[in-house]
Amino acid sequence: MPLSDLLGQDQARDRLFDMVNCARVPQTLLFAGPQGVGKNLAAKLLAQALSCREPVNGDACGRCPACIQIQRQLYPDMLLIAAENQQIKINQVTEIQDFISYSPLVGERRIVIIEDAHKLNETAANALLKTLEEPPPAALFMLLSHRHHLLLATILSRCLRLQFVTLAPAIIEEILKLQEAEAETEEEAGMSSAEVRAAAAVWSGGSMGRARFFQVEENLVWAREFIGKFSRLPRLTILAALDLAEMTAQFEERELVFFLLRSFLHDALLADRGLTIDRGAAVSAAGWSAEAAAFAGLGESRILAIRQRLLALERAQGINVNIKLAFDAFFTGIIFGSAE
Ligand SMILES: [Zn+2]
Repeated sequence: MPLSDLLGQDQARDRLFDMVNCARVPQTLLFAGPQGVGKNLAAKLLAQALSCREPVNGDACGRCPACIQIQRQLYPDMLLIAAENQQIKINQVTEIQDFISYSPLVGERRIVIIEDAHKLNETAANALLKTLEEPPPAALFMLLSHRHHLLLATILSRCLRLQFVTLAPAIIEEILKLQEAEAETEEEAGMSSAEVRAAAAVWSGGSMGRARFFQVEENLVWAREFIGKFSRLPRLTILAALDLAEMTAQFEERELVFFLLRSFLHDALLADRGLTIDRGAAVSAAGWSAEAAAFAGLGESRILAIRQRLLALERAQGINVNIKLAFDAFFTGIIFGSAE
């Protein structure tokens, strides 16, 4: 796959293309931006563009042994590092140091891709910094992160940053369609209707990961029901709140629950200010305009308070809390608040 196939990231794509064609690739790149918008893909496409045996117009051919090995993550001059148990540890940095200490086997570079680089723990980050300060000439580092502000400032200062942006729904729809066309089996393709694809793109909030999730129709149905119930909460009873907490606690994709609630409250605030929700806006999961407008009846200060409590709950879930009880308190709080 050539770099030109990186959809929805024109700025990052053009800069990468320039680097390849001017043969001026910095030794340390940071791919920053939201989850699920193509950072991993871009890293592999850059690796291909730099390693391709038969480049076409300065871009990867997608067919030569190097291109295929990179796509399958079997390329001997590429090392992929991902967090284990939510951390990137010192032994993984030692692995990197060992990897780059050897000269390239088949290409011109030893390429290291570090996913979720903000998950480097302190010892590992300091060890990596030492390496980034004096990298061997053939080493190329790509650090990927959706929370790059958590990285050491000393690491950030050594990186050339490429910013990735939230994908527009139309781009997401296009990618979903392409992926379905390329899938080898029906199961892999998901076989969603054009209608489900369009809804998945809008509900994804600009992330391919979420789009693929919502492409499964039952997930979309769940999310619609969840937001429907949540939006009616201020007019309902404690029993409904406990019921919703149960529904939430049983749902395994917790990140997604928080994403849905955050986005919904955001749209309710917009509606409160009399702003219409832009159906094309990437952040707005605008399938719920009517619900958001109704919820906006609570008023700005109430909605802001609910959002504060949601953020606190989201932070607390990393700590050892009983999530069912936490959601009980969160949802019943909305009913008590509305009775005031
Ligand atoms: Zn190639």
